[in-house]
Amino acid sequence: MNTALVTGGSGGIGSAICLKLSQMGYHVLVHYRSNKEAAENTLSAIREQGGNGEIIQFDVTDHEAVKAALQQWKSNHENEYISVLVNNAGYSKDVLMVWMKPHEWSGVIDANLNSFYNVTTPLLEDMVVNKFGRVINIVSLSGIKGLPGQTNYSAAKAGVIGATKALAQEVGRKKVTVNAVAPGYIRTEMTRDLNEKELKKLIPANRFGTPEEVAEVVGFLASKGASYINGEVIHVNGGLYT
Ligand code: NDP
Repeated sequence: MNTALVTGGSGGIGSAICLKLSQMGYHVLVHYRSNKEAAENTLSAIREQGGNGEIIQFDVTDHEAVKAALQQWKSNHENEYISVLVNNAGYSKDVLMVWMKPHEWSGVIDANLNSFYNVTTPLLEDMVVNKFGRVINIVSLSGIKGLPGQTNYSAAKAGVIGATKALAQEVGRKKVTVNAVAPGYIRTEMTRDLNEKELKKLIPANRFGTPEEVAEVVGFLASKGASYINGEVIHVNGGLYT
């Protein structure tokens, strides 16, 4: 059984990634934090297309809770390991720096950056020992160019990009790759309140992207065909760079 864990499988992009990995034959662990119903919907959609998986719950900011949930999974699945990890869970809390409260800074850093440490470390050893693994981090255009109102989110996503490049060099020899996917504006709950009509004027593709368009790239990075791509950031933004 080839198993993939997608954090934030209850969200827009995460759900599309779960479906894509399932189509590729993976048994998918659909992770959620608070929205169990959405995670169950993702799992039902996986089953409808002939795949299978299970639901797993934890808060990616809680190091001990993540460790316990993944340890529990391992003890229920002896001789198996999670070979693909998609660190997708995250959120933004936009506010100009001058008014940013400490919890608005640290909450976003916790969910988007510290989560990378919390979820990846318990799974890395198995990937290295089994000499196959894929860690795919969902970052953001915001972490590349920086966006006003998002100093917290830009810092967190840029931090994950640095971590991606460093870890890729630590584990590449063991046939484990670590890459990042940087979406621009994608139609999900996160961007629901944005004015697409106005913002699309900035985007060469003249529209927001879809979760499926991000999932395609994640699927490619997870595949054996991407085995010589390591420490890379792939942009999925319709041509919107700066
Ligand atoms: P959604 O709001 O649709 O989904 C966010 C997901 O993250 C949910 O599944 C949510 O779980 C989970 N999550 C949030 N905080 C936590 C936490 N503390 N612990 C565990 N899970 C958590 O957003 P998207 O699908 O749009 O975003 C997915 C990723 O893509 C994020 O990392 C985001 O930063 C990134 N991204 C999105 C872009 C966009 O335009 N949409 C652009 C660039 C990057 P639950 O609901 O169960 O609590």
